[in-house]
Amino acid sequence: MSDHYDVVVIGAGPAGYVAAIRCAQLGFKTACVDDWVNPQGKPVLGGTCLNVGCIPSKALLESSERFAQARDQLGDHGIGVGDVSLDLERMQARKQRVVRDLTQGIEQLFKAGGITWLQGRGRLLAGKRVQIAHAGGEAREVSAEHVILAPGSVPVQLDRIPLDNQLVVDSSGALEFDQIPRRLGIIGAGVIGLELGSMWRRLGSETVMLLEAQEQFLSIADEQVAREAYRVFTRQGLDIQLGSRVTGSERNNGGVEIRYQNSAGDHVVEFDKVIVAVGRRPNTEGIAADEATLLLDEWGVVHVDDQCRTNLPGVYAIGDAVRGPMLAHKGSEEGVMVAELIAGQAAQMRYDTVPSVIYTFPEVAWVGQTEQALKAAGVDYRAGVFPFAASGRARAMGETDGFIKLLADSQTDRILGAHMIGPHCSELIAEAAIAMQLGGTAEDIALTTFAHPSLSESFHEAALAVHSRALHVAQKRRPGRSR
Ligand code: FAD
Ligand code: NAD
Repeated sequence: MSDHYDVVVIGAGPAGYVAAIRCAQLGFKTACVDDWVNPQGKPVLGGTCLNVGCIPSKALLESSERFAQARDQLGDHGIGVGDVSLDLERMQARKQRVVRDLTQGIEQLFKAGGITWLQGRGRLLAGKRVQIAHAGGEAREVSAEHVILAPGSVPVQLDRIPLDNQLVVDSSGALEFDQIPRRLGIIGAGVIGLELGSMWRRLGSETVMLLEAQEQFLSIADEQVAREAYRVFTRQGLDIQLGSRVTGSERNNGGVEIRYQNSAGDHVVEFDKVIVAVGRRPNTEGIAADEATLLLDEWGVVHVDDQCRTNLPGVYAIGDAVRGPMLAHKGSEEGVMVAELIAGQAAQMRYDTVPSVIYTFPEVAWVGQTEQALKAAGVDYRAGVFPFAASGRARAMGETDGFIKLLADSQTDRILGAHMIGPHCSELIAEAAIAMQLGGTAEDIALTTFAHPSLSESFHEAALAVHSRALHVAQKRRPGRSR
């Protein structure tokens, strides 16, 4: 007889492991199936995010920022540090410790919550049964009242530049370099390309060239933010080639030759390493047997409604494998929502207040609608912008690039979007997300007192600017305005 659970979750990334924890909190007998093994062959929890995504990339980003600060900026503060040197092996070892501590932390949380960790590859069968295949072992079967699919995503690969895990790598390989690549090529100037490109540039790569297919830079972001980001990143030495189509690649002389075309013609460039970062796709191959009749689209995205129900009663899907942005926190919130729905609670996550962050330096962050989207939809809105150059705290920090922009509905004054580039924007964006979640207006923010001197005052000033009354930048007066 197979084991029976209230809930079986397939996948222990930030979507699946959070769903499992919340299910256990709600009193369900819960199991979580996961097939991730680390390079030492040990099964580990946490999925992409903890093992090769959010966490290791942010650990290295942090180290690279500290290195660049010691090398380039501390002198301006009157702090002499002599020759700054880089021990990449130690930096990588620190990153690995951060990953290990956090993945082991989830193991502890599973133990504390009484969650059964089933190691192996899960496959949904008919009748909410799940088959678990274990390399070298016999497949076993469990059954459940509810199944949550959270298999995550994998990098998209390009036929023209096949990965060899040495010279041509995906994002996982790009977090493992044991030497600084002198000439680094990156295919795709999206989130991963920008984060990892700026990180290796800070650590010493002489050339970092990003070949981006689209003509427009960072088309997912607000256009004004994307323009500022382009200006700052190119000044930092990122060579961003827009409208560039890779036509072929070849290994030679220990490097990689990339051929590409753009409006200026055909080009050939040599790199020591190439990172392919052209997006991710759902990891749903074989996630369900044909007999289970799970509905997926032609890209492998599991079809779900706005509460993550699949076409099969009692089967849910969450995280990168379903529609919406491929973000850890979006998957985690879906996991909580589904657990609470299973418990009979009225749960609905707000997709319109999910923040996005690009962890470059300065950071880029946004929540809600972009100005171009509001224009296209014909929404009557007001924009308020405040530059960090006018912030006392940003000046004291010496980090004056960027700005905060707030967009508010002209009629109701409700916040429709917030867009920022600048210091600590990954933290500042939470203020906008909370305001939106609570249905807040620009006036609500304007009426709030913010500590001085703090970066969050810039958020306050942007709200004041919505009504042309920012205090620390000169503003054109709007005749007849009463606010
Ligand atoms: P995953 O994290 O991919 O986890 C899925 C898990 O399920 C994996 O362990 C997988 O092995 C397992 N699995 C899959 N199929 C099966 C199966 N059939 N049986 C058993 N197990 C299975 N997002 C952010 O929000 N912030 C960031 O800063 C950020 N940085 C990133 C940096 C990089 C370099 C990358 C690559 C991604 C980053 N992301 C970031 C994206 C983030 O990692 C994903 O959005 C997130 O991991 C998705 O969570 P998930 O639980 O849906 O899937
Ligand atoms: P992305 O979608 O952010 O960027 C991919 C870029 O590659 C796009 O600009 C696209 O136009 C370009 N591209 C596609 N095909 C191309 C080609 N053939 N030649 C040249 N350019 C091409 O994807 P990503 O950077 O690979 O990241 C994958 C996912 O991981 C993202 O969806 C993101 O949400 C998530 N992620 C998030 C964070 C974060 O939250 N800070 C960090 C890293 C990754």
